[in-house]
Amino acid sequence: MSELIDLNTRTKLLEVKSLKKYFPIEKGFLRRLVGHVKAVDDVSFYIREGETLGLVGESGCGKTTLGRCIVRALHSDAGEILLKLPDEHIVDLAKLSENELRGVRRHIHMIFQDPYASLNPRMTVRDIIAEPLQNNGLAEGEELNEKVRELMRVVGLNIQHMKRYPHAFSGGQRQRIGIARSLAPNPRLIVCDEAVSALDVSIQAQILNLLQDLQEQFHLTYLFIAHDLSVVEHISDRVGVMYVGKLVELAETEDLFLAPKHPYTEALLSAVPKTDSQKKSDRIILTGEIADPASPPSGCYFHPRCKYARDLCRREAPAWQEVTPGHFVACHFADELALKGAE
Ligand code: SF4
Repeated sequence: MSELIDLNTRTKLLEVKSLKKYFPIEKGFLRRLVGHVKAVDDVSFYIREGETLGLVGESGCGKTTLGRCIVRALHSDAGEILLKLPDEHIVDLAKLSENELRGVRRHIHMIFQDPYASLNPRMTVRDIIAEPLQNNGLAEGEELNEKVRELMRVVGLNIQHMKRYPHAFSGGQRQRIGIARSLAPNPRLIVCDEAVSALDVSIQAQILNLLQDLQEQFHLTYLFIAHDLSVVEHISDRVGVMYVGKLVELAETEDLFLAPKHPYTEALLSAVPKTDSQKKSDRIILTGEIADPASPPSGCYFHPRCKYARDLCRREAPAWQEVTPGHFVACHFADELALKGAE
């Protein structure tokens, strides 16, 4: 189940290698298999200990499916998900049986977009936060209650409200309950799936600041999935961009925002709302629909919408390559295109 960690991967907490998740398309009474939706298609990246990796892309690009594969809410079809445990051993989450997963699950947690839907409305806040502590045998009795109170304090909840039910809280407070529940088993990695998208802008800022404070306090590592580039820029050390199940670019946040190397990233950045002094005409309007992951186009999946596409792009899929140290991109012409970044 495990092997000793390679020194070269010392700072990596999670490494995803050639991950695939295809959903079958069945038709007719006999449910005949007619194809696959390639939700995650040969994705590779790593997350270092203590960093925040942002993951962006349009709705349906596969980023949530990728997050769900990592926390094993979904079973991937191929590839590896290597997680370094506190004892320095590495496990491949993709290969573990349900039984083996039981001892590992506490190290990875997910925070969801809709905290109301993810919290059991029939459980009190005390029970919601206590549950993962009990399930993992981490505390009981008065020690359990004290841990719940401590977690409530840490995320800024009033401990007088521990007997209340989720409906009695605002959206921001419910997200704090979800965060306290995620923190309870002392995880190494938290996957935040659109964790602030449903909140008002002022509350978003509070939750983002809370996540950053908690990261420092508890040495947490985040995979932060979002469609809002401003939010991702605020919180991430590095950012990956997904398009139709594939990673198309990944770099340090400043590098990606100021000097993108993939035309899709350039278009996403141009769509970020600009201040009055900046020209709205800079916006790149992407024509055509996002490609169908059940029948993607030939070559580069982005070619029908790419203003820089040439013949080669229609024929051959670009390789995922490191064009400058730490800057990965999948575009045939990444070296020669002079793309515009955020201003
Ligand atoms: Fe555009 Fe071609 Fe690069 Fe794809 S490979 S992003 S179509 S230039």
